[in-house]
Amino acid sequence: MENCIFCRIVEKEIPATIVYEDDFVIAFRDLNPQAPEHILVIPRKHVPRIETLDPEDALLMGKVIVAAKRIAEGLGMKHGYRLVFNNGPDAGQEVEHVHLHLMGGRKFSWPAG
Ligand code: 5GP
Ligand code: ZN
Repeated sequence: MENCIFCRIVEKEIPATIVYEDDFVIAFRDLNPQAPEHILVIPRKHVPRIETLDPEDALLMGKVIVAAKRIAEGLGMKHGYRLVFNNGPDAGQEVEHVHLHLMGGRKFSWPAG
């Protein structure tokens, strides 16, 4: 997608601090971190929102979560971490390319704001 900022990161057209990539998933540091560690884990495939996922994307989204687990292990998040999908306007989704926030290095409250 030409006008999708995360697709442009996937294509290496704009820079990002990439911490993990494989054939299906890429992960990079959030530009505006909300925790000492704040990584965005995304499918390479452009999917705007959770509700636009196809049933056959189930394995792909599993790979996103497993990548987050590996990154968390690599960054030494031994005491836990927060995983978040903001989906749609009420949840504050700003970038319409599905992304999993992986945040760690501090304690998080619940319920989220
Ligand atoms: P959302 O609110 O859609 O769940 O989260 C989008 C996230 O993407 C925000 O945390 C924002 O800081 C991050 N972000 C937006 N544009 C860029 C960018 O160009 N590069 C990186 N690394 N992060 C971005
Ligand atoms: Zn995209």
